[in-house]
Amino acid sequence: MGQDDHKFRLGEVLVVCAPSGTGKSTLIAMLRERYPDFGFSVSYTTRAPRGAEQDGREYHFVSRETFVAMRSKGAFCEWAEVHGNFYGTATKPVEAMLHQGQDVLFDIDVQGAKQLKKTFYKGTFVFLLPPSREELVRRLKGRGTDSEESIAKRLTNASGELAQAEWFDYWVVNDDLDAAYKELEAVYLAGKCKPSLRPGILDNIMRTWENNG
Ligand code: 5GP
Repeated sequence: MGQDDHKFRLGEVLVVCAPSGTGKSTLIAMLRERYPDFGFSVSYTTRAPRGAEQDGREYHFVSRETFVAMRSKGAFCEWAEVHGNFYGTATKPVEAMLHQGQDVLFDIDVQGAKQLKKTFYKGTFVFLLPPSREELVRRLKGRGTDSEESIAKRLTNASGELAQAEWFDYWVVNDDLDAAYKELEAVYLAGKCKPSLRPGILDNIMRTWENNG
């Protein structure tokens, strides 16, 4: 098969959601480091850049006016308001990557994931869980980036998000980071093996029988 394999492979949609403080960014960074060919959906956001974030790399940073204009033109396949800012995924670049056979990773919130599930119902939807509320509080405090008020808000949001965990395809509990990474990677690789992502492969193999029969 070799080179032909690529021709018959469509890209996988991998959506990863988690309550704030669960370790989503760390696990996603590990996965992208291990699989550098992963297409990453760079979202549009109305929030201001943080730290070393660069426009076009972590996010496309846009004004509220631009975001609303894009939204009304139907540019987004999903969008949501998170912590007072708008976030959205532009449809075109995602479709282009998938058609080229590139797997695409989405780091989005639960509201957005629910919308994507309608479009990419054959995608792989993973929910990362913190081992407990106490551990989540410990991690949020340990980051040292959030005020007491912000932590309280994130915990309230977390319980709402956990209530949505039910409809996801996979759950990964981030208790031990390496163990959680292994599970996330396994879920990603399993998703790649779905027959729906490999149209033509079986026909191709069957032809090798016909040619020799
Ligand atoms: P942050 O501002 O900390 O980078 O992200 C806040 C939350 O917004 C995270 O849960 C992140 O996954 C989510 N988010 C980032 N981009 C998008 C997007 O395009 N759509 C949706 N629905 N959520 C997003």
